[in-house]
Amino acid sequence: MFTLYNSLTRQKEEFHSIKPDRVGLYTCGMTVYDYAHIGHGRKYTMDDVLRRTLTFLGYQVTHVQNVTDVGHLVSDADEGGDKMEKGALKAGKTVWEIAEFFTQHFYDSMDRLHILRPTVVCRATDHIQEQIDLIQRLIDNNVAYDTPEAVYFEVSKFLEYGQLFGQKLDEKEIAVREDVITGSYKRNPADFVLWAKRTGHHANHIMHWDSPWGDGFPGWHIECSAMSMKYLGETFDIHTGGEDHLSIHHPNEIAQSQAATGEPLAHYWIHHAFLMVDGQKMSKSLGNFYRVEDVIERGFNPISLRYLYLNSHYRKPLNFTWSGLEAAEKGLYSLLSWMQDVPAEEADEAYTQDSLIHRNNFIQSICDDLNTPKTLAAVWEMVRSDLPRGQKLKLMREFDEVLGFGLDDFRHIVIPEDVKELLDARNEARNSKDYSKSDQLRDQIDQLGYTILDTKEGSILRKKY
Ligand code: AMP
Ligand code: ZN
Repeated sequence: MFTLYNSLTRQKEEFHSIKPDRVGLYTCGMTVYDYAHIGHGRKYTMDDVLRRTLTFLGYQVTHVQNVTDVGHLVSDADEGGDKMEKGALKAGKTVWEIAEFFTQHFYDSMDRLHILRPTVVCRATDHIQEQIDLIQRLIDNNVAYDTPEAVYFEVSKFLEYGQLFGQKLDEKEIAVREDVITGSYKRNPADFVLWAKRTGHHANHIMHWDSPWGDGFPGWHIECSAMSMKYLGETFDIHTGGEDHLSIHHPNEIAQSQAATGEPLAHYWIHHAFLMVDGQKMSKSLGNFYRVEDVIERGFNPISLRYLYLNSHYRKPLNFTWSGLEAAEKGLYSLLSWMQDVPAEEADEAYTQDSLIHRNNFIQSICDDLNTPKTLAAVWEMVRSDLPRGQKLKLMREFDEVLGFGLDDFRHIVIPEDVKELLDARNEARNSKDYSKSDQLRDQIDQLGYTILDTKEGSILRKKY
């Protein structure tokens, strides 16, 4: 049984796909006005674990992800300038150039974390017609209205709007109202933009297209509805996003999709908690972020980040520290070095009964709302067990299909014998408390391009990344 916490019903639910053996998965993508950071890394790694788990369970997954390259204003509600234009101004480039540059950077960063590329990547600016068509449907259904400044979705026409994800419409109206600078034609402060016109506040908006309502650009939320429906159908299985999308973006996506089609957009809504720094969300707008490159520059293997992410549950905030990453790296390299010690050809063909118990523990843990800390504990229990090595290797290879560390790929990193001998000598010196000799040997190892990690499993050599 695979359970997922569904934010829509606020409980763990057993997962059932709409079509047998197939899953449609939509993961809200990045707004490409600045660099991708390791906070994004956390969210998309956990999406990747979800996708890999579904595949492991035998589903064929179609994974769709948008790239927001227009319409996301500085506030998730309809206020402020377009983030893309701000980003372009900062970089001294055109909006189109920064969209291309940061999209590339985002996917390069995700590749380094072994995050599988989505089946479909769709840019908002490539789907203007689909967004116009959906807005037209909403107008035809009498749930959207045209004004001199924008076409708005009328939230009072969608009865559940106020209660989605446990929100209270009154509270939201107040939150939105405090932020209101424009939007004087809104019938309700919580109504949101479907199509913004190139007038007033947005008179000089750089990206703009013709539409039945005049020159302008789509609001941010409509892109996700239009593109997810195009590639996954009007109702699909799973939709994910960061927990910041609980209050505005996702209720708006649900309202406008369901008001157009009469069907729920997605059956399961998954929300990821943030990667934090000093108690604050790591974010582009706060500028308090590290990129994957920063992690590599400090000598870490980026897959250590993946280990760090998996070591906490996706619904709990995770505070990023360098010492936390060091501990994660030790965990990862302990697994790698264990794997390197077992020759590839030693893997057994079939499982024994004892191995199946470990396999079940692993599956039960990951199927419990993607409980990755429990899953890693099950991995370690297996590694430390007295199962024969051939069994362990077979299990580990299967586990790694879900974990995505790529443990087998590390086999080619062979540590030279002379470096191993230096490590033995260093350990001997350390055991006999000859610390100056042990430090000197550590330096020698360091100069040869290797670092010693002292872990619970003993001292491990790691080639510098
Ligand atoms: P953005 O480009 O800011 O729209 O973010 C793209 C996705 O990454 C959204 O689903 C965000 O919620 C998520 N995200 C952004 N920052 C973080 C963070 N620090 N930790 C986890 N997820 C994040
Ligand atoms: Zn979205």
